Amino acid sequence: MDKVVARCQPWGVVDGSPRRECRMASPSFLPDAVQVAVVGGGPVGLRLAAELSLQGTECLVLERDCRISRVTRALVLHSRTLEFLDMRGIAAPFLDLGHRYRHYPLGSAHATVPFAGVDSPFPCALALAQHRTTHLLEQSALKNGALVVRGAEVTGVREDDAGVVLTVRQSGRTRPIRAAYVAGCDGAHSTVRRLAGIPAHRIVHPYDVVSVDARLDSPGPPPQQQPWGRWGRDGMALFLPFGDGRWRVILYPYRPLPARRHTPGGPADIDTALAQALLRRITGQGLALREVEWFSRYRCEHRHAARYRHRRVLLAGDAAHVHPPTGGQGLNTGIADAMSLGWRLAAAAADPRYDGLLDAYARERRQSAARVMRLTGALLHVNATPAYWGHALRAAALAGARLPPVRRRLAVVLAGLQGRSESPGGRVSSGAPAPDVPLTDTATNPHRRLFEALRTGAHVHLVPPCGTPDPRAAAMTLPLLTVHTDAYRQPHIVRPDGHFL
Ligand SMILES: Cc1cc2nc3c(=O)[nH]c(=O)nc-3n(C[C@H](O)[C@H](O)[C@H](O)COP(=O)(O)OP(=O)(O)OC[C@H]3O[C@@H](n4cnc5c(N)ncnc54)[C@H](O)[C@@H]3O)c2cc1C
Repeated sequence: MDKVVARCQPWGVVDGSPRRECRMASPSFLPDAVQVAVVGGGPVGLRLAAELSLQGTECLVLERDCRISRVTRALVLHSRTLEFLDMRGIAAPFLDLGHRYRHYPLGSAHATVPFAGVDSPFPCALALAQHRTTHLLEQSALKNGALVVRGAEVTGVREDDAGVVLTVRQSGRTRPIRAAYVAGCDGAHSTVRRLAGIPAHRIVHPYDVVSVDARLDSPGPPPQQQPWGRWGRDGMALFLPFGDGRWRVILYPYRPLPARRHTPGGPADIDTALAQALLRRITGQGLALREVEWFSRYRCEHRHAARYRHRRVLLAGDAAHVHPPTGGQGLNTGIADAMSLGWRLAAAAADPRYDGLLDAYARERRQSAARVMRLTGALLHVNATPAYWGHALRAAALAGARLPPVRRRLAVVLAGLQGRSESPGGRVSSGAPAPDVPLTDTATNPHRRLFEALRTGAHVHLVPPCGTPDPRAAAMTLPLLTVHTDAYRQPHIVRPDGHFL
């Protein structure tokens, strides 16, 4: 019998041992059956687990890795993601730890996308290493009552009429776990997606990217701790500060990179030398990389699951869609999936009448990810298309991006606020991201603004003072909180994920 380590209360994180080897809880600790099993304890799986638990759904997260990987990966949280965190009352620690960006770089000192004008309580992007984001999201999931089991790998997914049976390997042994629904949040190479028989469309772009986390030595004054970029004959370079002197340097070379070789210097030295040479060639500024913490070179790709649902199996995050790093959209899109799926899956798990909500999730989020893919694809072509017509494309795109309306539009799209009315109280369309608005009846309800009211996890019915209720409110069978606001002349209902019904 394996030794049980760390906290083994029924709902909490299992393992978390500081030791290197993976020591797991006793396999008998895993429940035989749960309402919802979330496969993958990355940021998306953990956010989904927090949402399910908020709605009172029994939820088990099965995570293959024993501990959160220290690799930075996603660095940027956009305005809409910060709004989601605010809607759950957990934004403060992210804002405390993160570094605020005023703009997003486009590869030229004269063309950046300023966030100051976006209609959000968070008119910025926040740089925060993914492992920190994941840790905070795990805390929130645990606080809400989710069970997170680390060192548990899902190797089998079998559906029957009553639900889904997962095969879980833990400490070298396998056992079945039955769930009414399974959410595959297990990343780009999703086992759940493959075993559920959901194909993924894949486009591998002919562009290499080099990403380095390091300190930067500059011959001139140290660059401001804000994102910036350069493009030259040999490539594009983007610089994203962590805020503590470290930088994420992303290089898009316009010539093929040399094949990887293993020489006595070791891959780390070769990688650093390659990044250094590229950086010099692109910027010509004598910038030097120091204390390289992480290096990655990869081919950019888009990958999109053909469906986000197969009967009782749902997909979210990278399991459903993979983007190139342009625009920092991958993690943000996954968090939006989790927000959209959480309340719907909780409703369907509690009552089969709500099963149709899951089809709405699959449709809505797939369309949304397709829009994001068009954006990340366009930015990728601008950044990475090699010389000749690539330079012409960049010159045209960067000239366009200097026009104020184009910059405003790009800021809204990057921030994840597409569809939000530009004027307060303006036209509202179903599925659009609701803005935070002040509430008026704070003497009778404890919430001062919409995002605070959404922390209950209920739909929120916004009624203007002396106005009539939304006719859909009377037919609503899910929890509904009615509040008053003078931000609108008409009543509206906002879903628990912060979008208009
Ligand atoms: C270099 C790089 C830079 C990036 N930069 C950005 C950025 O700036 N902004 C942004 O928004 N996004 C960025 N991304 C994308 C971002 O990292 C992903 O979108 C994000 O990690 C997706 O989260 P996820 O939870 O869906 O998947 P993951 O983070 O991949 O988590 C999946 C989890 O599932 C677990 N798992 C896998 N298989 C199983 C199994 N069979 N059983 C149990 N557990 C399993 C894994 O161990 C993992 O913990 C970047 C990605 C890369 C590679």
